[in-house]
Amino acid sequence: MSKKKTDTSLIEQFMYPKLGPGQMWETVAQKVEQMGGTIIKNCDVVKLSIIQNGVSGLSYINNDTHLQSEITGDYYFSTMPVKDLIIAIGDDVPAEVRQVATGLQYRDFITVGLLLNKLKIKNETEILSANDLVPDNWIYIQEKNVKLGRLQIFNNWSPYMVADSNKVWLGLEYFCNEGDELWEMTDSDFISFAIDELQEIGIIDKNEVVDQTIIRIPKTYPAYFGTYTQFDVVKNFTNKLENLFLIGRNGMHKYNNQDHSMLTAIEAVNNIIAGEKSKENIWAVNIEEEFHENKSE
Ligand SMILES: Cc1cc2nc3c(=O)[nH]c(=O)nc-3n(C[C@H](O)[C@H](O)[C@H](O)COP(=O)(O)OP(=O)(O)OC[C@H]3O[C@@H](n4cnc5c(N)ncnc54)[C@H](O)[C@@H]3O)c2cc1C
Repeated sequence: MSKKKTDTSLIEQFMYPKLGPGQMWETVAQKVEQMGGTIIKNCDVVKLSIIQNGVSGLSYINNDTHLQSEITGDYYFSTMPVKDLIIAIGDDVPAEVRQVATGLQYRDFITVGLLLNKLKIKNETEILSANDLVPDNWIYIQEKNVKLGRLQIFNNWSPYMVADSNKVWLGLEYFCNEGDELWEMTDSDFISFAIDELQEIGIIDKNEVVDQTIIRIPKTYPAYFGTYTQFDVVKNFTNKLENLFLIGRNGMHKYNNQDHSMLTAIEAVNNIIAGEKSKENIWAVNIEEEFHENKSE
């Protein structure tokens, strides 16, 4: 089957970092610092200053100290949500661009991690597994009576991510909207609700839960509704800022996976090295898969 026709969710084999995808970025960060780079963490960019056809500097706020600092650079790569970027540019944005950016929509995400002694479901396949654990990495939940969208079994991604191999770490995934009924639940209520759902569909016995955690991620999925059909207005405006490069997923408001997000960054750097002024090659990354927005990845 050609690459294009193969659904990436159905591939049989892939490389996976021993300690999960974050390990790759921890390694990248180490290398950047070893090579003399500085990484400023836990800060939000709040203001971009524009002069003529480019960005002249930015301000960021430290989330712990709430102190604001300024920094300047030759080039600026943005992975912050386009909506926030346009707000950060502020008064220099034409009204039409601001209106389109304000109307961009997102889907949000809540994940609940559950540590269990064991699952209720058992491995009924011929695939060998430790402790009779079902061999799936993720399970898409089809039952209409629950809100749960997908289940991850972290032991099967990499056994090194689970400290006690006799236990099971699950990730329950909920796709929602900031401010909706799910989003507004307290953490403890949400965790109880999630445990009950998993028991209801027969995957666990709730008495086997030994630990839990919850993470809420706003703006996880850039949506292709709202003002998305007019997105070119924003794109044309930011394209004109020569030293600003919109890259990644929310950075481009585009359903880029990790490989495509990295590719947009590589294309941007290659353009700078080559002195290429057009950014169309960056926007062309992942064009053929643009309409996969209904799938969770
Ligand atoms: C549940 C889930 C499962 C996924 N599974 C896969 C998968 O299996 N394979 C795959 O390839 N992809 C997967 N993805 C997609 C993948 O995570 C994204 O494609 C990738 O992370 C996009 O990279 P990025 O750098 O654009 O954005 P991010 O990784 O989101 O990084 C953006 C960064 O910008 C920072 N930021 C935002 N605003 C500001 C600001 N104002 N100032 C400073 N910093 C800011 C954020 O804090 C963040 O660190 C998954 C995504 C989700 C949500």
